[in-house]
Amino acid sequence: MTLQITEMLLTNPNARPGTRITPRGLVIHWTANEGKGANAIANRNYFNRPTTVASAHYIVCDKQIVRCLPENEMGYHVGAQSYKPAALERLSSYPNNCTIGIEMCVNADGDFRAMYRNTLELAADILHRYGWGVDKLWRHYDITGKNCPAFFASDDYAQKYVGQNAAEAWEQFKKGVHSLLTGYAQKSQVDVDNCDIQVTLPVKGRLRAGVSYLPVRAVAEAAGGKVEWDAGPKKVTVNGKALPVTIENGTAYSATRELAALLDMQVEWEQESRTVRLVKTTPSSG
Ligand SMILES: [Zn+2]
Repeated sequence: MTLQITEMLLTNPNARPGTRITPRGLVIHWTANEGKGANAIANRNYFNRPTTVASAHYIVCDKQIVRCLPENEMGYHVGAQSYKPAALERLSSYPNNCTIGIEMCVNADGDFRAMYRNTLELAADILHRYGWGVDKLWRHYDITGKNCPAFFASDDYAQKYVGQNAAEAWEQFKKGVHSLLTGYAQKSQVDVDNCDIQVTLPVKGRLRAGVSYLPVRAVAEAAGGKVEWDAGPKKVTVNGKALPVTIENGTAYSATRELAALLDMQVEWEQESRTVRLVKTTPSSG
């Protein structure tokens, strides 16, 4: 799964100072703009106005995820006069300098559920890439006490948007991110097993009186065999065993069955397409 992100990096130096950061947390915001058209692009363009001194790394609406800042650059999304003790302890004395910010759009002409799902996926993707758990998720509210995002911080907004109280709504969001993260973890723990692979080579064989002949070196080497030429033009060994060959235009051909036997392969013949198929026989590892 690849997350679709629209990159529209800010060029407004008042919102994008270019200061390098090493992220230690992910902060969730809302745009607080319920007006029609207040989607991700519109909010990004607002950040890019020369008079705006505010920004976030991502803005999410129902239609798309817009990246405004590289994750290793500082944004202005959690600045305040004072910070809560947990933020000072676990982030820094100026949490803008170590956090990634996501703005959630609530434009009236958008689909809140779709925006919410996009945010879950983006948050999970970020946590996954940094190797973080959901303990690295912060509401803006957790850092400064601001009512942001209101549907995760105040009960009336939470009821209106998600039909729960604020604490439940935030827990629900973190659960959603966690379950996506768990899904990634399971996908990366793939069982490894042996399987048969049919190798198709761009080589032309020869049919003589119903017996097929193959170019020895091309086939043997593709199958992992070791080809050696003994002294004399018509003495070839494959995996240390002699193989009778005929030379045509400088290429050694051998009967398919004899070559396959030395390579531990099975020979299958397809009459219709006049194709010889060599199938590597691997012992099953169970
Ligand atoms: Zn905020």
